Amino acid sequence: MYWSNYHSHCTFCDGRSSMETFIQFAIAKNVRNYGFSSHAPLPFLTKWTMLESDLPDYQTEFKRYKEKYKDKINIFQGLEIDYMEEFPTFINNVLKDKKFDYLISSIHYLDKIADRKYLAIDGPFDEFDNGLMTLFHCDIKAAVYRYYEAINQMIDKGGFDIVGHVDKIALHGQYYRDFDFKALWYTNLFGDVLEKIKKKGLILEINTKSLLDKGVTYPNQYYYSLINELKIPIMVNSDCHYPDLITNGFKETYTELKRVGFKTLQQLVDGKWQGVEFDENGLFD
Ligand SMILES: [Zn+2]
Ligand SMILES: [Zn+2]
Repeated sequence: MYWSNYHSHCTFCDGRSSMETFIQFAIAKNVRNYGFSSHAPLPFLTKWTMLESDLPDYQTEFKRYKEKYKDKINIFQGLEIDYMEEFPTFINNVLKDKKFDYLISSIHYLDKIADRKYLAIDGPFDEFDNGLMTLFHCDIKAAVYRYYEAINQMIDKGGFDIVGHVDKIALHGQYYRDFDFKALWYTNLFGDVLEKIKKKGLILEINTKSLLDKGVTYPNQYYYSLINELKIPIMVNSDCHYPDLITNGFKETYTELKRVGFKTLQQLVDGKWQGVEFDENGLFD
């Protein structure tokens, strides 16, 4: 039995330890397949994305450790790319001649509040609340509709393998009275997103980053049955920024997924994504 994690950050972006420390912790935690997915560059500076000029080092360092630890762990190199409507082709140009094992696509910045200032869906709550006032007149429902419109555009655009923390708008959204992930308007909206993921043949990650402190995964556990009914291929990722959190929430999540009826989780084997069986203790050998 073993674990896998394809969504992780290190000091190349906003992760708190070096690539090598993450690898050593992953080995100690019985993670057999481990992927780095640093935040890809954006067309402007942020505190959490890589610089475009760091990409060559990111790839060289990775190769060095892949070789060094090849007998102990399979490591993969990915990126977490952002979809921003304002810069539709930026990332394609940046990655044009570069090869990665996989790409995760997520939305962190929604719309522009002011020059170089965007509504961050997973930044500090106060900033989100201020941005919601400016852009959506405090109407959380309008913001949720806009968020899923952007997610739909991201999926339509394609060019990646995995949809990252698909309903993360719930992180701050849950604190507003009009937000209800079980309401009909929301289930319709989110159900359409899931249908689209299915149709495009993408992998949906079950992101456990907030499980132990907030009790939820992204997507929310409430939607596991629907995802299973739709037969969307899934994987479980911790989105860790700290090495001690690499397998954070895995046992609980694997247990719940198994209970709901999922049979396999996607793994990168010989360069191809395939389903591997699992139970509450991990993936099968
Ligand atoms: Zn993310
Ligand atoms: Zn991430």
